Amino acid sequence: IDLTVQHDMDKLEATFPSFKEKYRLIKRIGEGTFSTVYKAEDLQYHQYENSWDLDAAESQWRPPPLKGASRSRFDTANKPKFVAIKKIYVTSSPARILNELELLHDLRDSHSVCPLITAFRHADQVLAVLPYFRHQDFRKYYPEMSVYDMRVYFRSLFTALAAVHEKGIIHRDIKPTNFLYDPDKKRGVLVDFGLAEREGVETKPCLCHEDRQTRKQRLQQSVAFNSAQAGPQPGYPVNDTRPSRRANRAGTRGFRAPEVLFKCTEQTTKIDIWSAGVILLTILCKRFPFFNSADDIEAMIEIATIFGTRRMKQAGQIHGCVFDTNIPTIGEKGFTFEKIMLWSTCRSDNGKDLTEDEKEAIQFLQRCIDLDPTKRISAKEALVHDFLQVDPD
Ligand code: ADP
Ligand code: MG
Repeated sequence: IDLTVQHDMDKLEATFPSFKEKYRLIKRIGEGTFSTVYKAEDLQYHQYENSWDLDAAESQWRPPPLKGASRSRFDTANKPKFVAIKKIYVTSSPARILNELELLHDLRDSHSVCPLITAFRHADQVLAVLPYFRHQDFRKYYPEMSVYDMRVYFRSLFTALAAVHEKGIIHRDIKPTNFLYDPDKKRGVLVDFGLAEREGVETKPCLCHEDRQTRKQRLQQSVAFNSAQAGPQPGYPVNDTRPSRRANRAGTRGFRAPEVLFKCTEQTTKIDIWSAGVILLTILCKRFPFFNSADDIEAMIEIATIFGTRRMKQAGQIHGCVFDTNIPTIGEKGFTFEKIMLWSTCRSDNGKDLTEDEKEAIQFLQRCIDLDPTKRISAKEALVHDFLQVDPD
């Protein structure tokens, strides 16, 4: 074991004196921007009578079956032997930490969301204890996934999203490392609600929530405003007196929905659907990360390259933005996902066409990666889409 990791683990045990009696730290399993996660053994586990139970002792906690599951998941029979201990960095604001713990509490009955067992605080340090969920590294399994595997994976992911969205919660950071998937058990759980928020907390209205007519009028006014300004750079009006747009941009580069890039002030749960679509695009094209932008402008260029300027302009208009570019490689029409998939898997020149299975995957992809959030499929709708009609058992 790495010495610095051992040092950090010792420090953690010293900070929380009662901790050592309850948990034995095993190893570090994750390190992110906002936390470090350790695998640990629950030392009080043996006190529970079912600890001899083979299935439980093998232990990796499994979400209970979807139908007819008991409500309290941490009754003695269900107590996991191994836990994941998430040490949230002190640089996170107290409000943010509270937000994560509160949302997890709200989602405690959702079987595809990794629940919170308990939490500890010592001064400014906070530890969240979750059942350990055995999973594999996305980078390991995604290149080998068949279309059937994709159906099963996305059925699991969209089941989780439907549960989260039903509570009016936007996860905001959907990506492979936040969906712990076990290809053997064909189940996954959603983790990391550090950036999640309730839908509708942003109060400033965005044009995307207006009807077409109003949108058109407002946009004409704004274009008139822009052209009335004299300036060398189109799109950057001098003496612009309008307040700058502010919007929540939280999330991960490459997974941000276009409305986030267009600074929509009324973002919805549909931003998670876009991110899930990016995961599917990644698997179909066998390229991870698929989008690799350094900032929001580059991200817009990447998306525009696929969709073309015409659809990108329309996408901007929905949120009252004017999209313009003079980059010669961005065409007006863009490319189809079929083409992109064939190119990236090097199949375009040997005349191979897509299979029926792959075509269905692309159809589903188009419903997820739709530039217009109002037209993009919802998680609930996705669960009845042909692509997700699969029974893994
Ligand atoms: P961060 O905010 O630092 O991204 P996460 O909650 O996403 O924190 O956890 C980081 C990593 O730790 C995950 O990608 C995963 O590998 C591991 N991890 C988190 N929770 C669990 C869990 N319940 N079981 C197993 N591994 C976990
Ligand atoms: Mg994470």
